[in-house]
Amino acid sequence: MDDTVSHPQSVREVVENGLCIGCGLCEALAPDRWSMGMTAQGRLRPAPIAAELEAEDQPILAACPGCVSNATAEGDLEDPMWGKYIHIGEAWAGDDDIRFRAATGGVLTALAVHLLRSKKAGFILHCAADTENPMRTKWEISETAEQILQRAGSRYGPSDTLAGLEKALERGQAFAIIAKPCDAGAVSQRAKADPRLDALLVAVLVMVCGGASELGKSEDLLEEFGVTEDELTLFRYRGYGNPGPTRVETEDGRAFEKTYQEFWADESGWKIQSRCKLCPDAIGEAADVAALDIWPGGTPVGEDEGFNGIITRSKVGQDLVQAAVAAGDLVLGQDHDPRQLDDFQPHQVSKKHAVAARLRGLSKAGQPTYRHEGLRLESLDVRDEAEERGAFERAKAGRFKEEMPIHPRGDSNG
Ligand SMILES: Cc1cc2nc3c(=O)[nH]c(=O)nc-3n(C[C@H](O)[C@H](O)[C@H](O)COP(=O)(O)OP(=O)(O)OC[C@H]3O[C@@H](n4cnc5c(N)ncnc54)[C@H](O)[C@@H]3O)c2cc1C
Ligand code: SF4
Ligand code: SF4
Repeated sequence: MDDTVSHPQSVREVVENGLCIGCGLCEALAPDRWSMGMTAQGRLRPAPIAAELEAEDQPILAACPGCVSNATAEGDLEDPMWGKYIHIGEAWAGDDDIRFRAATGGVLTALAVHLLRSKKAGFILHCAADTENPMRTKWEISETAEQILQRAGSRYGPSDTLAGLEKALERGQAFAIIAKPCDAGAVSQRAKADPRLDALLVAVLVMVCGGASELGKSEDLLEEFGVTEDELTLFRYRGYGNPGPTRVETEDGRAFEKTYQEFWADESGWKIQSRCKLCPDAIGEAADVAALDIWPGGTPVGEDEGFNGIITRSKVGQDLVQAAVAAGDLVLGQDHDPRQLDDFQPHQVSKKHAVAARLRGLSKAGQPTYRHEGLRLESLDVRDEAEERGAFERAKAGRFKEEMPIHPRGDSNG
């Protein structure tokens, strides 16, 4: 064992070392002690609202994405880059309205709607724009197909879907989750300690994820448009087309748009959170189904009708996809092979190759990192010295350091 490697021993250590992604699980498991709040850096993080009790927080740390990330995919096929899977191909929603309004081709929304219609799930835990503050994102429980569709689309800022996990479990009803790959990892680890998840959670659906921006990325857009947050009635990152425009509307009837390419043009302004740069599983290796964009080379050249890539990672995921296709809720296109995914997602390939070196850099600088299993970081390690040195120097310069939020957000859905 490498004795330079250490792991966080408390929630505070997770946050202060830049390992928190703000998933919200802390608040769900210990709402009397942790409440999610926005930090000055524009990141959702757990704020302590009572004495911090390390011993009592161990169940949180056992599932926290800042402490652990394990693959649970169980497909018969396995690719060195993309992990275990049953099927990889192209798909889109059977319903044209879902396909148009959703982020890409509406696969995640269509599968969730299918789960409700077929009565396999009573509701979906996911997230959406906060109706009061549409630049911000809030966890939601959707009980109807229309609610799921209204909440479709990608939210590129901070999101804490798992803050709703306990409320979901308390309903005692079958449900599904749509979330990010790191959230799926947390749920799969949490299931080891909470048997209600095995009994009630029928599917975990994720998007392949290039990283979650700080709120500042969205604030910069408002500044460019000369709009203040309190004037907003809509902040949609994409959808209404594929990819569709980033669109902002105000209460006095003004509307502003940027194309997806314009919104993401300047990488120096992406403001991606630290945990994302160290992410060992941004491709859904702890989910049942992962959906993605399939633009050749990784960038759209214009608008199209909406085509997702889809990776089924478990029998549950595969059965769900087949049932949704049989019901007409989902349409499957051509099959893909993993090398096509490399072309669609070059940034995921680079990251998988770089993460081990980044973690080494952090450890050498004396910072804790997460534990990981089954994600092939060692076999994909290209021993990139520049990556290792870069992470080491950034860690030494305190660039991974974060502050805890002082105030909880105060708008819990509870
Ligand atoms: C932060 C982020 C980064 C992404 N990076 C990539 C990438 O690198 N490569 C790629 O192929 N695709 C990426 N996407 C995914 C892509 O934008 C589409 O979401 C994906 O293709 C699914 O499309 P869909 O039409 O099936 O989704 P939809 O049918 O529109 O459903 C989207 C669902 O995701 C949920 N959701 C949206 N945002 C979040 C969030 N921040 N946290 C948790 N749940 C959320 C919504 O509640 C909704 O239910 C990213 C998405 C996000 C949010
Ligand atoms: S990653 Fe999630 S569980 Fe871990 S500290 Fe952050 S909010 Fe809490
Ligand atoms: S890149 Fe990884 S850590 Fe960041 S939001 Fe996506 S899945 Fe979570």
